[in-house]
Amino acid sequence: MQIENFIGGNFIAPLNGDYLENHNPATGNVTSHIPNSTADDIAEAVQAAQDALPAWSALSLSERIEWLEKIAQALESRKDEIANIESMDTGKPINLARRVDAARSISNFEFFAKHAETLAELTYEMDDATNYVIRKPIGVVGLITPWNLPLYLLTWKIAPALVMGNTIVAKPSELTPLTANFLCEVLASIDFPKGVLNIVHGLGINAGQAILEHPQIKAISFTGGTSTGKIVAATAAPMFKKLSLELGGKNATIILDDANLSTAAKGAARAAFTNSGQVCLCGSRILVDAKIYDEFIPLLIDAVNTMKVGNPAQDDSDIGSVISPDHMKKVLSYIELAKQEGGRIISGGERMILPQPNSNGSFIAPTIIEGLGIDSRCATEEIFGPVATIHKFTGDEEAIRMANGTEYGLAGSVWTADLARGKSVAEKVESGILWVNTWLHRDLRTPFGGVKNSGVGREGGDWSLNFFSELTNICVKDD
Ligand code: NDP
Repeated sequence: MQIENFIGGNFIAPLNGDYLENHNPATGNVTSHIPNSTADDIAEAVQAAQDALPAWSALSLSERIEWLEKIAQALESRKDEIANIESMDTGKPINLARRVDAARSISNFEFFAKHAETLAELTYEMDDATNYVIRKPIGVVGLITPWNLPLYLLTWKIAPALVMGNTIVAKPSELTPLTANFLCEVLASIDFPKGVLNIVHGLGINAGQAILEHPQIKAISFTGGTSTGKIVAATAAPMFKKLSLELGGKNATIILDDANLSTAAKGAARAAFTNSGQVCLCGSRILVDAKIYDEFIPLLIDAVNTMKVGNPAQDDSDIGSVISPDHMKKVLSYIELAKQEGGRIISGGERMILPQPNSNGSFIAPTIIEGLGIDSRCATEEIFGPVATIHKFTGDEEAIRMANGTEYGLAGSVWTADLARGKSVAEKVESGILWVNTWLHRDLRTPFGGVKNSGVGREGGDWSLNFFSELTNICVKDD
C-alpha cells in the first residue's frame, strides 16, 4: 500500500517522488510506503490552506459545527476500521485501539461540535461604553503530533481548529501515518471542502520543520517530546507564532498509607503499563508509603501478571509491542542502566519473543524496578515504555518532594481513603493534571497540559477554542 499527501482535497505524490517505509511494530512487516515530504510539499499545502481560508472562515459557527457532526458520523460508521488500522500501525492491542483511540477520535469531533455551541458572546459593560470580545480565526495553523495516540491526538487539535474557522496543515508522526490518511479518505467521501485540512507526511526534520518555518502558518500546536518541543519553540517563537506545546512527562503514582491497596495496585499497574507505558500521562514512578510497601508489592505484581502481553490483533491482549525496534532498544538500555545503578527487577525486565506472526515484534515484558535512588536517571528521565520504578517514602511531605523531583510536571495520581488528604497532596504536586483514586479519567471540558518542561499552554474545552482564535476586543462608546 502506498499513501499520498492530502493537499487541496486531492491525494498527491510528494514533489521529490521519495517514499519512506512504514512498519507494523508487532510483526516487523512493511505495511505501507509514505511520502518523504519536504518544504516544497509544505508550501503547496499552505497555499491550498490559504486558498480555502476565505470560504471556510466565512461559514457561520453553526455551519462549521454541522461539518464537525458530519465528520463524527462518518467516522462512527467506520469505527472498526480505525481501530484495526491504528492497532496495526502502532502495535497496540485492538481492544485498546477500539476503546480509546477510535472512540476518542470520534468523540473529539462530537465534543467540540457541542462545546462550540456553548460559546457565548462576551461583553463587559463600562459606565459609558460596552466591550465586545469576539473570536476571529487565526488563519492557517500547523499541527504536529506524535505516534502514541495518532488519530486521537491529531483530531484533538483538528476539531477545535476547524470549528473556530481556521484551515490546517498537519504532519502526523512518520511512524504512524495510516489513520491520518484514513481520515482524509473519510473527508473526501463526504465532500468536505477542499484545502481546509491538508495532511503532509514525512520526517520531523524536513516536513515538520518546514511547517514551523513557514511564514504564512500563524500558529503551531505541537504534541511530542520535550527535546523536540525546544526546537519547535526556538523556531516558532522568534516568528511570533502562537504556540501550544504538550510535551513529555515522568508522572508519579502516590500510594498513601490509608489507600485501598488492592484498588491502588490495579490502578498503579494500569497507569504504568497502558499502551506499553507509551502515554504521556503514564505513572512511571510509583511512590509507596513505607508502612504499606511490603504489603503493596505482591498486589502490584499480581495486577501486572494479569495483563497479557500478546498479539495486538487478538481481543484478549492487554499489552502489545512498543512502537519500533529502535524504541525497544532504548527502553531495554534503560533497564540495563537500572541494573548498573543498583536497581532490582521485580517483574519483567526483558524483551519477549512471541510466536508467529509476532516473532520479529518489539515486545517488552512490563517491568518494575525497585531499589533505585529517586534521583537516578531511570527515575527522572522519560523512558516512555513499559518500565516503572518503585520507591518508598515516609510521610506525605516526602511523597510530594519525591513527586516534584523531576524536570517534568504533566500528571500524577494519589491513592487514599481520605479524599480531603488526597486533594491536599494533589494540590502540592507540581503538575497540570492530578487524579485522586483514578487515572486517565477525562472530562474534555477541563484544561489539559503540563508545567515545567512538560509544556506551555492548555488544551481542552474553552482553552482549545481560545487557542485557535484571535480574541479581539471592540470597545463601543455610548452616545
Ligand atoms: P517527537 O518529539 O519525536 O515527535 C513528535 C512529532 O514532532 C512527530 O511528528 C515528529 O516527526 C515531529 N518532529 C520531530 N522533529 C521535528 C522538528 N525539528 N520540527 C518539527 N517537527 C518535528 O515525539 P514522539 O513522536 O517520539 O512522541 C513521544 C513523546 O510525545 C513523548 O515524550 C511523550 O511524552 C510526548 N507526548 C506528550 C503528550 C502530551 O499531551 N503532553 C501526549 C502524547 C505524547 P517524526 O515522527 O518524523 O520524528
